[in-house]
Amino acid sequence: MDERRTDLERFPSISSVTLYGEFTLTGNRKVRCSVNLTERDLVVQRLTAAPVGRSNAVLSLKDCVGCRAYRGNEPADPAAYLSVYFYPLRRRWMSSGVSRQRVEQCFRLAALQDPRANLDEAEKWARAVRERAARQQRLHGDGALVSQLSRPCQMMLLVNPQSGKGQALSLYNNHVQKMLNEAGIVHTLVITERQNHAREMVREADLSQWDALVIMSGDGLLFEVINGLLERSDWEDAIRTPLGILPGGSGNALAASIHHYSGGSAASGEELLVSCGFLLCRGLVSRMDVVSVQLPSSPRLFSFLSLAWGFVADVDVESEKYRRVGAARFTVGTLVRLASLRVYKGRLAYLPAAGDNGPRRGHELTPVPSPPPADSPCRHSFHNSCHSNNSLRARRTESTPSRSSAGSPPGPPDSLLPPLDRPLPPDWVVAPEEDFVLVLAMYQSHLAEDLLAAPGAALNDDAIHLFYVRAGISRAALLRLFLAMEKGAHLAANCQHLVHSRVRALRLEPHSAKGIITVDGEVVEYGAVQAEVHGGLSRLISG
Ligand code: ADP
Ligand code: MG
Repeated sequence: MDERRTDLERFPSISSVTLYGEFTLTGNRKVRCSVNLTERDLVVQRLTAAPVGRSNAVLSLKDCVGCRAYRGNEPADPAAYLSVYFYPLRRRWMSSGVSRQRVEQCFRLAALQDPRANLDEAEKWARAVRERAARQQRLHGDGALVSQLSRPCQMMLLVNPQSGKGQALSLYNNHVQKMLNEAGIVHTLVITERQNHAREMVREADLSQWDALVIMSGDGLLFEVINGLLERSDWEDAIRTPLGILPGGSGNALAASIHHYSGGSAASGEELLVSCGFLLCRGLVSRMDVVSVQLPSSPRLFSFLSLAWGFVADVDVESEKYRRVGAARFTVGTLVRLASLRVYKGRLAYLPAAGDNGPRRGHELTPVPSPPPADSPCRHSFHNSCHSNNSLRARRTESTPSRSSAGSPPGPPDSLLPPLDRPLPPDWVVAPEEDFVLVLAMYQSHLAEDLLAAPGAALNDDAIHLFYVRAGISRAALLRLFLAMEKGAHLAANCQHLVHSRVRALRLEPHSAKGIITVDGEVVEYGAVQAEVHGGLSRLISG
């Protein structure tokens, strides 16, 4: 796939003449329609008077996932058929907002007696619809767009039958299979048998066979796939394989994020699935940031979503037992954990991103407060780290790659991180507090389907959005923060205990010997942890 040039650049003279035809509707041969295919729309006008209902339809090609030209079932019938599949945004039934709903336009072409000639005509239309839809969709792609999947394409679709309420396979059967077929996407269904099955498979797979690897599960299965790709000796090419995500688990944060980036209003369940299915069929591939995570003794991990310690990590793990309620498990878990709210002690340091104006409390800008007391109980010292003023921060970090490239394990070298037991460079900032309720690093917008935790995050902004909540916050105030997070309004809530910073790297050193750290919702080795963002390392089929 050529990532650098779009069809428009390659063929600047593609014409946009309107195709015109008069067909009957497949469902009712008595109804004749005039059909115009412009560069942007399929315009259908009824020529036969309509007794009821609307007589015209204008369907935008940017909402079209595919079309099909075919012969009917009766050999004696010379007609050919053309079906075009759209997923336009329609006002929701009984609630506010809009969601994508399937619209099929199906025409019967029978101008000639020769079945072959009718089929040729239907195929000409189908090609024209596909080309124009692809062009319209690229025009509406975002800035991080690198390519578009061409058709036909081959996808490996990995489904975790245990994710969420255990409903991923039935969601596949009821929604996804048909949608992919309509979009001309050939896919091979792979049902995972156990944890790390997908990771091992992706590590060994012949990736030249696949145009994309798509996972239908929660975020945990994509975590396996990304780590599997980055464990390969050809990781640099492997991680450029377009990845796709369909929400089939209970933690569908990345799916909710790409839906949000595409401009969708808050959605969950089947609505979110249809939206993500639409984005997948559209096949626009963008870069996605990946964060490398170093732990005390386990191999380095790669993360696409979040790193959490404290309240959020505990909820992640404790809410496993409410898995049967699906995505609501986080809400239940949050309420339960609020009742036993506690303080987590540790040290947090970070390297601010360029242009970050220092940590923000609520939405106010405040200077970085004074350093922590000298007798702090942390195990590793942060060299120079207490001098967190802006002039120090503006200095370039000395590169101290933690792994050399020769003979090093796969994956990109971390240029910002010294070894975990070594002091940090002087341009890092140390959080002045050591008592936290939570530390949460996010690289995409959503922490869960209904938690817009990092409203400023984008797929490929080369930044970690670091949040922490200082100890001393009341239960009521913390609950208000989580409630405000549903709409991403927590940063504007003027909560003095919430601090937010855009950073490129971070280090966290918990003081307690036991505890929980999660990466993308998965529990990892507990202890000191550090992370660095690798901007745009992977590819995701999104908007
Ligand atoms: P959920 O959002 O419901 O947690 P995930 O996709 O995160 O769904 O999957 C939960 C966990 O299940 C992950 O740790 C994943 O690696 C693991 N897993 C994947 N496939 C299977 C399987 N077939 N059986 C059991 N666990 C699996
Ligand atoms: Mg999960």
